[in-house]
Amino acid sequence: MSTREMVCITCPRGCTMQVEQFDGAIKVTGNFCKRGEQFAVNELTMPMRTICSTVKTSFPESPVLPCRVSKDIPKDKIFDVMNEINRVVVTERISRGDVIIKNVLGLDADVISTSDLLRKGE
Ligand code: SF4
Repeated sequence: MSTREMVCITCPRGCTMQVEQFDGAIKVTGNFCKRGEQFAVNELTMPMRTICSTVKTSFPESPVLPCRVSKDIPKDKIFDVMNEINRVVVTERISRGDVIIKNVLGLDADVISTSDLLRKGE
């Protein structure tokens, strides 16, 4: 049996949980709601994270543009996705929500703009 402490990052409450693993079973205590248990199970089986970052552009007035992934990606792919984001230069005007990288690394998530700094028609 192994026991570890884990902080749920699903909401700002940030519950500190005790997570016990034995014989393939996972027991979670200290969570205020069910989402904490789901978070703990996911962390032990397939941890997922979001990415918020910036991407380079060719526009002098906005040399970088905020972006994020459209859905959580596996935690162990964060650096690979960041490498993809760092390789991109936006050369056309785009709006908030527009796709910058479609299906990044085949993860079924897009990298999208979170800003209207380069909104079309500006
Ligand atoms: S267990 Fe529930 S209340 Fe606690 S941090 Fe997670 S989501 Fe929030």
